[in-house]
Amino acid sequence: MKPYRQKKTVSGDTAETALELKDAFHLVSPFIEKHTTLVCPECEQICCADKHGRYDKHDLLFLNALGMAVPDLETERKETDACRYISTRGCTLERWLRPFRCTFFFCDALLKSLEQDNAKLYRAFTDYFSHLTTLRQKLLK
Ligand code: SF4
Ligand code: SF4
Repeated sequence: MKPYRQKKTVSGDTAETALELKDAFHLVSPFIEKHTTLVCPECEQICCADKHGRYDKHDLLFLNALGMAVPDLETERKETDACRYISTRGCTLERWLRPFRCTFFFCDALLKSLEQDNAKLYRAFTDYFSHLTTLRQKLLK
């Protein structure tokens, strides 16, 4: 992936919220990764099509608030082609850099796996996830 570049300035509050949101992605990621590692290798309908790897305006707002811009949005890929960020070892992007929908999407198999984990761990995860979505709403206001 090419280096990010500064696009435009944002207020201090917005930048602070964006940093908190980035941290929130780090909080939820290990639990999700634990379960994608379990269920995704068995998947027959992998969800990482290129259309899901395309940033929407809210993703771009978040990245911009961190002083970043997304490189090379142009692609020759069709929406149904494999995502430009997928590799044989899964997604090449850290979670906070992925389009939000990649973190927000839970297929049935993944959801079931998460829910069957230790109850305390699952509850902590849902609390972290709720924190993440609250921060994202705050950023988008
Ligand atoms: S998240 Fe679900 S649909 Fe996507 S690759 Fe994993 S098992 Fe398949
Ligand atoms: S998780 Fe990564 S590889 Fe999958 S659709 Fe999102 S950006 Fe693409």
